[in-house]
Amino acid sequence: MIYLNGKFLPIEQAYIPVLDRGFIFGDGVYEVIPVYSCLPFRLDEHLARLQHSLDGIRLANPYTVSHWRSLIESLVAQNEGGDQYLYLHITRGTARRDHAFPAGVEPTVFMMSTPLAIPGQELLTTGVAAITAQDNRWGRCDIKAISLLPNVLLRQLAVDACTMETILLRDGLLTEGAASNIFIVRNDVLLAPPKDHRMLPGITYDLILELAAANAITHEIRDISEYELRTAKEIMLTSSTKEILPIVRLDGQPVGSALPGAVFRQLNELYQNYKATVMRG
Ligand code: PMP
Repeated sequence: MIYLNGKFLPIEQAYIPVLDRGFIFGDGVYEVIPVYSCLPFRLDEHLARLQHSLDGIRLANPYTVSHWRSLIESLVAQNEGGDQYLYLHITRGTARRDHAFPAGVEPTVFMMSTPLAIPGQELLTTGVAAITAQDNRWGRCDIKAISLLPNVLLRQLAVDACTMETILLRDGLLTEGAASNIFIVRNDVLLAPPKDHRMLPGITYDLILELAAANAITHEIRDISEYELRTAKEIMLTSSTKEILPIVRLDGQPVGSALPGAVFRQLNELYQNYKATVMRG
């Protein structure tokens, strides 16, 4: 079952008018929320980021936080089963095609649930490969916008190269992955690029930094140069659906010892423990 504009219905029966501004202009925002054992993970944080994205495109939030919570609870209950992730999508609605905002139009609200397959133990043990590319996206990467064509093209480069992710560089600095945030380790310090318009403020990124702070893992939030990325001892990616993954090859070169590093292992253990604690309630 999916949710569309006030109704729960089977996905085969869900239709969007062709003049929806999401279809015509990519004029909308989205969220991806993991759900473990029926419990949405970091839901408040995801709903706060949704509000930030809506504010960024000047679209009023169609629902209150408590209404979102009850809709999400119903959707999860109707898709019972194992771990899942919710995809939540809001567009500026359907109107005659004109770039400027239409007046008096209801937004389109869509939510669906998909089974969640987090990376298996093998990837955590062997690590994954990544490539780099120039970050050619727009100047508001902090908005989780549905217009994802640059991310699609950049991520396809990773797939074409048989790797997991494309790590992006803008003006000689690390920004993030095509669909993830990136951390590195140098001189035993965990480094993260600052949250600004150049990257999406990842919910997992925040959690990793919270865990690092609570567990005396030395860390610093600052610009990271291409040289620092390429000579890092460890590189890791984070996202709600991939959690935390070690990157052991970059553009075909080994990262550090080409094995998942000690800081990755510590952070992953802390992350898994945190998740287990939250799920136990
Ligand atoms: N950056 C980009 C561009 C993303 O698409 C994502 C999510 N897939 C992330 C970062 C990670 O964000 P989160 O931890 O909230 O999933």
